[in-house]
Amino acid sequence: MQFDRAFPRRQTRQIMVGDVAVGGDAPVTVQSMTITKTADHEATLQQIYALAAAGADIVRCTCNKPEAAEGLARIVPRSPVPIVADIHNNHRMALAALDAGVHCLRLNPGNITDPTKIKLIAQESKARNVPIRIGVNGGSLDSSLYDESVGVTPEAMVESAMRELAYFDEVGFDLVKISVKASSVPLMIEAYRQLSEATDHPLHLGVTEAGPPPAGTIKATAGIATLLAEGIGDTIRYSLTADPVEEAKAGRQLLEALGLRERKNVDLIACPSCGRAEIDVYKVANDAMEAFEDREIPLQVAVMGCVVNGPGEAKDADLGIAAGNKRGHLFVKGVNVAVVPEDEMVDQLLDWAIFLHEEGVDATMARAESTRDAARKAAEEDRARNLDERGDDANAAEAAVELIRSRTSS
Ligand code: SF4
Repeated sequence: MQFDRAFPRRQTRQIMVGDVAVGGDAPVTVQSMTITKTADHEATLQQIYALAAAGADIVRCTCNKPEAAEGLARIVPRSPVPIVADIHNNHRMALAALDAGVHCLRLNPGNITDPTKIKLIAQESKARNVPIRIGVNGGSLDSSLYDESVGVTPEAMVESAMRELAYFDEVGFDLVKISVKASSVPLMIEAYRQLSEATDHPLHLGVTEAGPPPAGTIKATAGIATLLAEGIGDTIRYSLTADPVEEAKAGRQLLEALGLRERKNVDLIACPSCGRAEIDVYKVANDAMEAFEDREIPLQVAVMGCVVNGPGEAKDADLGIAAGNKRGHLFVKGVNVAVVPEDEMVDQLLDWAIFLHEEGVDATMARAESTRDAARKAAEEDRARNLDERGDDANAAEAAVELIRSRTSS
């Protein structure tokens, strides 16, 4: 039995970004952003396809000049996912992006501040039924909201979003999602918490300028996951200084880890290794990760360093392999199914995973019919041998505990 209860989500209203629902009871979506020149529509489309394959549901492209808007006109009809145009200081680029047929705009209230221009964009978006993300950014907050003595505050970020919403309201436009990103995790967490109290528009989560992985991934995860676990957030973006494919993968993996999206790719678990290990667990786990990475096999797969505790500790996994005496013990749902040579462990694991995914558990057990008994016996032999050679306390923990006791008892 696996504990798999999703976090209850705060209710938001729903908008459509192209054919992707955001908010309400829609699954939390993953976004990323292209780093190509949007005017180079072929290169940008290639990147959009790579992002979609990595798990992005929605992709944003910059629309910073007329050539970029022309690129969008060529990209949108061929894109596999809805396209959001990122608008900077020039409101004409927002209108041009709408002409290009984009599915959503992103406006930064700190960049376009003239109410007449903001309302014009909202009116044009309303006429086309195209939503807008109000993308407040702690680093480019409207100067009238910036407090010289305390700097950027969560209250100021929320106020910036609410002012923009009020302009939209004046022209009857409400197809809106909102973000209040900052590079400081505590600041963005508090800003989103306050925003979620102030409005029921769907929220786009992110830690801006998180930096390169792994530190950037950890920073973004700290902010995004904290809020998702509180039920806040309808769509997410990792802003990493890396290939955007890494952003899409990270977003997807986070949602899968939290149980907010169906698993699409493998969930590889591996033991941390210890004195009982019969293989280099780190190497085999990394090799397995590489072998499974680009395949859509939504199974939990375990790599365990020994057969003494491995199969038991990983009995909830769909399948796994535990190292024995120069061989690997394959198990499916905790049942030993085959013994394979050590240098074939990863290949065999992948082969059985593909079979299990495509044919199901019953067919896999039938496949193991002739090897199952021998596999169980071999596993028992290797288990007994490991215990015999390394004893019950392979990590010598009890000896250390005795030593500590003898030194601290007087
Ligand atoms: S006891 Fe076996 S499965 Fe557990 S950490 Fe050690 S090597 Fe891995």
